[in-house]
Amino acid sequence: AGRVVPLFVVDEAMAGFRNPNKASFLHDCLEDLAAELADRGAGLVVRRGHPTEEVRRLAARVHAEEVHLAADVSGYAQARQKALEEALAADGRRLVVHEGSTTAVPPGTVTPQDKDHAAVFTPYYRRWAQERLRKPLAAPRRMALPDGVRPSPLPGVGALGGGDAAPDLARGGEREARRRLTAWTRTVGGYAEGHDDLAGDATSRLSPYLHFGCLSPTEVVARVGRDSEGAEAFVRQIAWRDFHHQMLAARPQVARRDYRPRGDRWREDDEAFQAWREGLTGYPIVDAAMRQLNTEGWMHNRARLLVASFLTKTLYIDWRRGAEHFLELLVDGDIANNQLNWQWVAGTGADTRPNRVLNPLRQAQRFDPDGDFVRRYVPELRGIAGKAVHEPWRLPEDERGALDYPAPIVDLEEAAATFRDARGRS
Ligand code: FAD
Repeated sequence: AGRVVPLFVVDEAMAGFRNPNKASFLHDCLEDLAAELADRGAGLVVRRGHPTEEVRRLAARVHAEEVHLAADVSGYAQARQKALEEALAADGRRLVVHEGSTTAVPPGTVTPQDKDHAAVFTPYYRRWAQERLRKPLAAPRRMALPDGVRPSPLPGVGALGGGDAAPDLARGGEREARRRLTAWTRTVGGYAEGHDDLAGDATSRLSPYLHFGCLSPTEVVARVGRDSEGAEAFVRQIAWRDFHHQMLAARPQVARRDYRPRGDRWREDDEAFQAWREGLTGYPIVDAAMRQLNTEGWMHNRARLLVASFLTKTLYIDWRRGAEHFLELLVDGDIANNQLNWQWVAGTGADTRPNRVLNPLRQAQRFDPDGDFVRRYVPELRGIAGKAVHEPWRLPEDERGALDYPAPIVDLEEAAATFRDARGRS
């Protein structure tokens, strides 16, 4: 179109999430987007309120013919889209929904016969990998706002639900995202061997940029390619992201409800939950991971797996409590990936081995063999060299007593027996 209104509506329901890391990151994103639009002759228009009403009102004011948006999958997003479509139709306007930007392969494309979604990843991925992805388009060189519409001042971090962000939070925005993606295309080759190495930190860290739409998964796949073992393994993770999105699109209720109920009667244990949240469980690998979340608003995937297993299977606390805590702090937190990965680990989701328990000591030995990840995030243990850092309770009495670090809050073997028992009965 000759005239376009780039619009961002601060949705009060979203601001209510009160995740300071997301608020800060989103603020960076909007600043960057507004600057890029201004460079092209337009600017960002911002409204605050109910998204359907705000879009409808502005579309009427500028006599818009069409409203465009990117498809999204959560129950909230689906309801919002439907309401918007109806409101616009009542005024004689059309809503155009674009697939291939929130996910690489749209939900519903790769499904077994007679099913509305795929529930097993491996066959899903086989077909996903054969799909032709939409080609990314270049950004327009010039854009113009309609007469009488002006760019708005940007909302402050507070208006986006923010407070004190994590000290080491990544910077948001499309320019930062592209810089990181370019750097990643040079190192992705090592991903297959390096992605589980906690101290090596050799994953892309692109998740918040994907979450906020600074990059589309389609573009990420196009730029990275699939020519090396590393690139192939990395693209497979993008397919995991699509997999969870297509599950949520078909079953929005799994944001709260078990996808596959196992009859769990979760333990109520506020003290243990608190210790987990603060990184004070006495298991250094778990505590390092939880403190990474507190200082960066982000956590390595291997760390997410092991702390989620610790909460749901060792402490046998409801995955919903853990998922909610993650959503309050993760800068990349989203309903599809967060809730469905939590369900995966808890054994109520798509995992075909729902009762496996990740033993934190074995995880530590495998994925942080020298203990560097623990020393990076748990300063109380920095003086302990090598892998001994994973089992401070084995230190001589006087050394252990000098540490300002708790004893383990739970016995792993007893916990595993409790869990087996609980699942066995269900
Ligand atoms: P890379 O390893 O570089 O992978 C590239 C991209 O693939 C990621 O950016 C992400 O978009 C996608 N991806 C990777 N692993 C997964 C996965 N298991 N499931 C879905 N997509 C994946 N990811 C989120 O984006 N948001 C969440 O809220 C979220 N919550 C999680 C909660 C738990 C309990 C677990 C176990 C995993 C969760 N993940 C979530 C998935 C994964 O941990 C992160 O996507 C990943 O750690 C992000 O780091 P990265 O960008 O360096 O990933």
